[in-house]
Amino acid sequence: MTIPTRTAIIAGNWKMHYGPKAAATFAREIVPALGRLVSQHERIMSILCPPSISLTAVRQVLDEHPAPRLELGAQNLYFEEKGAFTGEISPTMVRELCSTVILGHSERRTYFAESDALVNKKALAALHHGLRPIVCIGEHLEQYETGQTEQVIRSQVAHSLSHFPAHHLQQVVIAYEPIWAIGTGKAATVEGAGQVIALIRHLFGEMYGADASASLRILYGGSVTSDNIAEFMAHPDIDGALVGGASIKHDFVEIVRKTIEGM
Ligand code: PEP
Repeated sequence: MTIPTRTAIIAGNWKMHYGPKAAATFAREIVPALGRLVSQHERIMSILCPPSISLTAVRQVLDEHPAPRLELGAQNLYFEEKGAFTGEISPTMVRELCSTVILGHSERRTYFAESDALVNKKALAALHHGLRPIVCIGEHLEQYETGQTEQVIRSQVAHSLSHFPAHHLQQVVIAYEPIWAIGTGKAATVEGAGQVIALIRHLFGEMYGADASASLRILYGGSVTSDNIAEFMAHPDIDGALVGGASIKHDFVEIVRKTIEGM
């Protein structure tokens, strides 16, 4: 088996920040620089994930400054194609504007009661419609402190990532986000994150085979900034980052710059 060269992903989860006007203003500030950076290296891509109401505004800015591997992602979708689902957006709607969708973020699991089974349905719908799902998994603080990380990860992988068709496996991206590291300024250690990510790769391999596991992109997420990205990217199993707080600042450009510098 040859070891595939995995394209790194730096994705920015803007969460519930920036409505259409502010999103367009911020995108105009960062997109030209991001475009120049990702164009320099064919093994990196960057994905901006604004709130759904701001996707069109950011799409417009990206279209004004086209760059390879600078893409748009949504933060969620519903698995049905259309119908009486007030407040939801469908995979086909997302696909009109985006390449990617974040699914199962811990904030959705915690505040909106999203289960592994629901996340799995959403991921299958995303894949079916040609979207790249970034499926988030990770343990919360108490589970971490009581040594349950492995058990939680095993269960989330088994139930959130099941039934993926073989021909869609290349599209799947996983983000390991220990919940205690999200928005707290306390990132995991590279060693700790690397161990869990190696476990996720191993479990994915048990489900889908060695080739799928070797080409799977697994991101780290949790208090990533331009100060620590280089350490995470130096780990051979970490293929990029899902960035929250720092993605709504100019630091996001620095994160991409440092990632490329380390390549
Ligand atoms: C996130 O929201 O996915 C995240 C990792 O947030 P932060 O970078 O702010 O910890």
